[in-house]
Amino acid sequence: MAGECILVIDDSNEIQEVLRTMVIEPNGYRMMSATNGEDGLRLALESPPDLIILDERMPHMTGVEVLTRLREEGMQTPVIFYTFHGSEDLVVQVFRLGVQDYVIKPFEPAEMQRSVERVLEKSRLRDERDRLVVQLQQANERLERQIQEMRTLYSIGRSVTSLLDLSAVLTRVVEAAVFVTRAEEGLLLLKEEQSNTLVLRAAKNLEERVARGLRLLVDDSLAGEVVHSGRPVMINGQQAKVATGYLVNALVYVPIRSPDRGIIGVLGVTNRHSQQNFSEHDVQLLATLSDYAAVALENARLYERAETERRKLETVLHESSEAVVVMDPDQRILLCNPAACGTLQLPANSVGRLAGEVITQPTLQEILRGVQRAKRMIRAEVAIYDGRTFTAYLSSVEGVGYLLMMQDVTHFKELDRIKSEFVSTVSHDLRTPLTTIQGYITLLQRVGPLNEQQQEFVQRVHTSVSEITELIGELLDLGRIEAGYDLDMEPLHVEAVIDIVVDELQHLAAEKNLELRWQKPNLPLIRGNHRRLQQVMENLVSNAIKYTPEGGWIAVEATSDKTYIVVRVADSGIGIPLADQPYIFERFYRVESEETETIQGTGLGLTIVKSAVEKHGGRIWVESRPGVGSVFTFVLPAIE
Ligand code: ADP
Repeated sequence: MAGECILVIDDSNEIQEVLRTMVIEPNGYRMMSATNGEDGLRLALESPPDLIILDERMPHMTGVEVLTRLREEGMQTPVIFYTFHGSEDLVVQVFRLGVQDYVIKPFEPAEMQRSVERVLEKSRLRDERDRLVVQLQQANERLERQIQEMRTLYSIGRSVTSLLDLSAVLTRVVEAAVFVTRAEEGLLLLKEEQSNTLVLRAAKNLEERVARGLRLLVDDSLAGEVVHSGRPVMINGQQAKVATGYLVNALVYVPIRSPDRGIIGVLGVTNRHSQQNFSEHDVQLLATLSDYAAVALENARLYERAETERRKLETVLHESSEAVVVMDPDQRILLCNPAACGTLQLPANSVGRLAGEVITQPTLQEILRGVQRAKRMIRAEVAIYDGRTFTAYLSSVEGVGYLLMMQDVTHFKELDRIKSEFVSTVSHDLRTPLTTIQGYITLLQRVGPLNEQQQEFVQRVHTSVSEITELIGELLDLGRIEAGYDLDMEPLHVEAVIDIVVDELQHLAAEKNLELRWQKPNLPLIRGNHRRLQQVMENLVSNAIKYTPEGGWIAVEATSDKTYIVVRVADSGIGIPLADQPYIFERFYRVESEETETIQGTGLGLTIVKSAVEKHGGRIWVESRPGVGSVFTFVLPAIE
């Protein structure tokens, strides 16, 4: 880069001329000249050149003296020094004074030109280096600032998700806004829907009298404009109004936008005393912080809602008369309500302990073990220490573990007992007149001739009375079984009972073209009542025949292990819908569907079966798929 200014200080006009015409001007430099030391010094101080070419020998003031003064004045301008006969001392002296080159006179113009070029190139490089150093420092400062901004944003981001205290989070956001924008004050206003005002929720450095009760109308304030427009506002170099009587020199407001409720507030920073302006970068930083504020507000709202729901649920559970125990997947107790603690006599420190350890009731212990295998809801009747009876429901709950609920059914059991007693009495009382009616119907035909229509009517009365008699018979049977009457037990072979029943019903199956399969095994003895067990088998096999369409099959089988006899009655029939399965053993329950519409029944058969099996110390259950078939299985304890 030529164009630099060179000051030549020499009393020889001749050399001045040589330098001008042969070295300085041809290479595009500018020249200043002085013919004595004083002038040269003055010129150099007035308008500092890029290079000084300095002669040693001059009248009044030598080159060394000029150089010394220049350095004393703090000028570091590069200097080329020349002299006729230099001594070694002089060389050392001038180099100490920071001379860049030392030339011996007489010199060739080309030699001086090389020297000038060398010295200027060096100082150019130095200037460039200094410029780069300054740039680097500035870049460093900017980077450091950015890192600090990022750190601040990051830490705010973290506290938004970790701090549940909303006002602490909002205060942190405002503090960060003030910090990253180097503002004097910051504020966060939230919209109040009912009053259409913006209310101050957090502030930093805001004057106490303003902060106290700061409320701005959405329709009549600068902050309100931001809420309306949804766009940030930046005011620099003119007075802006935050509130009545509160003017600032510069201000930025950005909207706080909730994902589903639109603009819910404003985040702002202001400079009240300083004249410092804000930049677009500040607006962006505030926009990021306002997003954090929005997330925090949304979190707080959701948390509040969840908390309200939780409190409601807790109250309901607390007040509920039903016992509720919630367990994790390992069956450790997570929660038990007061009803559960009272009913099950749970120790005070039950939460966190294994349910199997603190719940001592045997049936509950059994179903707690069973539910892990069964993977479905288990229902059981549970008698507790004070004589009350509960129905317990134990089921697994996705994402939680297990839920045990217990309902006090003592009262219903008592009602049931009274009802059964009543039904038994009434049935019994009805039986005598029914037998009389039946007798007279038979007599009617004998005592005189009946015409055809009369005979048909008599037949219908006969059928209906038979149905009622059967129903009453079943009701009485049920009553007796439940009450434990007529239940003398003796050792017997259940396969012998099955044999009789299959034999007896084979013709019914054949009528419907059903294959009734049975192979009599040799099983251990059981203690049982022949009549009741025969009734159980008759009900199960005749149901299988009733509910299996023509051409199907029924398979009866009985097996045993050492302690139990297992009897299965399977069919390829219409099956039982899943929703009906829990109820089919209940009194009078019949599945209502197109397929069962035409099939006669009382809905008492399976109730009798279940009751009888249970009186034998056994259990019965069903597995069934509509359209595929059903399997009824019961187990009875064997005599060891
Ligand atoms: P019902 O006198 O109606 O047969 P039960 O108590 O014997 O009464 O049976 C109750 C209900 O269970 C029946 O109405 C029927 O819907 C259903 N059910 C019983 N056994 C079978 C079976 N093997 N296949 C399909 N459904 C059956």
